[in-house]
Amino acid sequence: HPEQSYAVLFLDLDRFKVVNDSVGHLVGDEMLKQAALRLASACAPFMVARLGGDEFAVLVDSLPDQALAVTVAQRLIDSLNDPIRVTNKEMFTSASVGIAYADAHYTRAEELLRDADTAMYRAKARGRQCYEIFDEQLRAEAMRALDLEGDLRHALVRREFEPHFQSIVSLRDGQVVGYEALLRWNHPKRGLLLPADFLAAAEENGCIEQIDWQMFAMACEQARHLPESTYVSINVSARRLRVPDFDEVALRTIRSSGLEPQRVRLEVTEGALLDQPEQMSSILLRLRNAGVLVQLDDFGTGYSSLSYLHRFPIHSLKIDKSFVADLANEGSSPAVVRAIIALAESLGVEVIGEGVETPAQRDALVALGCEIGQGFLFSQPMLVKDLPGITG
Ligand code: C2E
Ligand code: CA
Ligand code: CA
Repeated sequence: HPEQSYAVLFLDLDRFKVVNDSVGHLVGDEMLKQAALRLASACAPFMVARLGGDEFAVLVDSLPDQALAVTVAQRLIDSLNDPIRVTNKEMFTSASVGIAYADAHYTRAEELLRDADTAMYRAKARGRQCYEIFDEQLRAEAMRALDLEGDLRHALVRREFEPHFQSIVSLRDGQVVGYEALLRWNHPKRGLLLPADFLAAAEENGCIEQIDWQMFAMACEQARHLPESTYVSINVSARRLRVPDFDEVALRTIRSSGLEPQRVRLEVTEGALLDQPEQMSSILLRLRNAGVLVQLDDFGTGYSSLSYLHRFPIHSLKIDKSFVADLANEGSSPAVVRAIIALAESLGVEVIGEGVETPAQRDALVALGCEIGQGFLFSQPMLVKDLPGITG
């Protein structure tokens, strides 16, 4: 009805998962309850509904003008300004809100909720604790994403993905010990695309699983052209690691490529392991028994909870490039990198410094006891046929 305009607000608590993981679920639940009460009184007379987890939705109906939805959004955000007390502890939380106005674009309520969710994500990206409105720009972006989805499916069929290889070297003498296979999309119209251009979309629509399998097979296949003394390391998304018979399919793929399993390493992230630690641990163990080693990617950016590390059969830690970038900066402290290296040493795990761009960063890593690195200083990722010293 034209006169009866309304809006949907999608609210998500900021970093709630971190809070929950650090204080425990009981305290987390209590906090969530209190936050919900505040939200409910802040948005009265409109109703707040819990969508699950730390997500809430508010339907602002009989909207006199669009400003009201914004006012309600701001009231919701402000209602969490004061700390929440749970068992004598004061805790802080905040919320990000997305707003979508019902207009002629919509035929179903779910679409409105979806767009409010999209706007909420932009509020998070803008720095959290704020609201965003789903507007024409976001609509255009969503449409582009839809295009990308179709393109991704075609790309799988037309085999437009290809691995580029970047060397991993011994920092002291520059000798190549392995190569990381990095995904590239040779897009017919847009040229060579990097994972940042399409990985999020591929994850969202589930294509990532198939892309990863294709990449995996190609990387093993092409790695036969690499020197026998080197390994190839392949990135595995969390989603694919969770496929129940992942290890079997991976080993079958490696064997049928003719590459020895000893020459393959898998790169996984902490988040992927912690989701189902028991299951992951046994998968990785079976792989290691078959010769395939595991490297923990982007170390230091995720949970980095030290307590779990020893439970997984991990061969190497890759120090995230953000820490390496900081290493040679004046006034920066190598404390984090030093701690990671000490931890690795005590666990008997190899360390690899990622994103080494300057000789100063390389030297700093060596001085701290990191012997292996990877980065533009040594090589860009490139097609196997373009790698120096590779023939065939
Ligand atoms: P990653 O696993 O951390 O890969 C290293 C990234 O750092 C690569 O970006 C690489 O090109 C870049 N890099 C290498 N040396 C330097 C340096 O000296 N300085 C800087 N600033 N960057 C450097 P790329 O290729 O764009 O890949 C981005 C991310 O996409 C990867 O991060 C990985 O998480 C993901 N990815 C790449 N290939 C695959 C794949 O086959 N499957 C899946 N699931 N993810 C992949
Ligand atoms: Ca990686
Ligand atoms: Ca990494």
